[in-house]
Amino acid sequence: MIKMENICKVYRMGDTEVWALDQVSLMIEEGEMVAIMGPSGSGKSTIMNMIGCLDQPSSGSYRLAGREVANLSERELAAIRNQEIGFVFQSFHLLPNLTALQNVELPLVYAGAPPAERHQQALDALKKMGLEQRIHHKPRELSGGQQQRVAIARALVNGPKLLLADEPTGNLDSRASVEIMGIFQDLHRKGMTIVMVTHEPDIATYTQRILRFRDGKIMADELNKQVFIPR
Ligand code: ADP
Ligand code: ADP
Repeated sequence: MIKMENICKVYRMGDTEVWALDQVSLMIEEGEMVAIMGPSGSGKSTIMNMIGCLDQPSSGSYRLAGREVANLSERELAAIRNQEIGFVFQSFHLLPNLTALQNVELPLVYAGAPPAERHQQALDALKKMGLEQRIHHKPRELSGGQQQRVAIARALVNGPKLLLADEPTGNLDSRASVEIMGIFQDLHRKGMTIVMVTHEPDIATYTQRILRFRDGKIMADELNKQVFIPR
């Protein structure tokens, strides 16, 4: 699914250079569930932006589902983001004046789907998240865990191959965090490829593999033998 070779990202600020990513090579197979960990400034956001086609590397090769994306135009990258990748964020990024249903319909509006079709698809996505009783609620009328489930429904409504999550439990209490990680594990069992950043070791134990970043490099690539499956 993801094949990066010798990816570098250099920021130039005046005379100084910051190597946000320094010769990173990385393979993630279809269906893997991976956590990215590391201290602040180690390159986690930069690698996620790269994987998510939000940013281009300074050098190196990135093949996503077999296609080289390191030298595509911004327009081509936007098409890949919209069609092939779902994004989930720490602060949910829901539009406050839209209902849950309208938020989940948005990617389909951008994709040009007819109203009846996008209504049905958004409804189905919300039902899968157990939110059929909440579809007409605005984000502020929902709990944090419910808001994140709306955001996951929105991320999945276009049928992406890859789900990227940036600290998905960072704004949630422990009960809601367990609930969200249970959803990720269900998606993983159904074959979704998931890459998430977390700084919480407890949350990383729900994944299959942990990539530890430091100073723009991968310092450890660990198979997680203690994957936590909640009952
Ligand atoms: P993390 O997400 O692990 O905290 P980042 O990927 O945000 O780390 O940052 C990696 C390094 O790149 C840091 O030294 C950071 O200061 C630098 N960096 C990130 N974005 C920029 C930018 N837009 N301009 C300059 N330096 C940046
Ligand atoms: P959070 O802190 O809630 O996880 P941030 O605002 O830090 O989220 O955003 C994380 C990254 O995702 C940023 O690098 C930003 O450029 C990118 N991003 C923000 N909004 C969107 C969006 N709607 N679609 C795609 N990427 C986004």
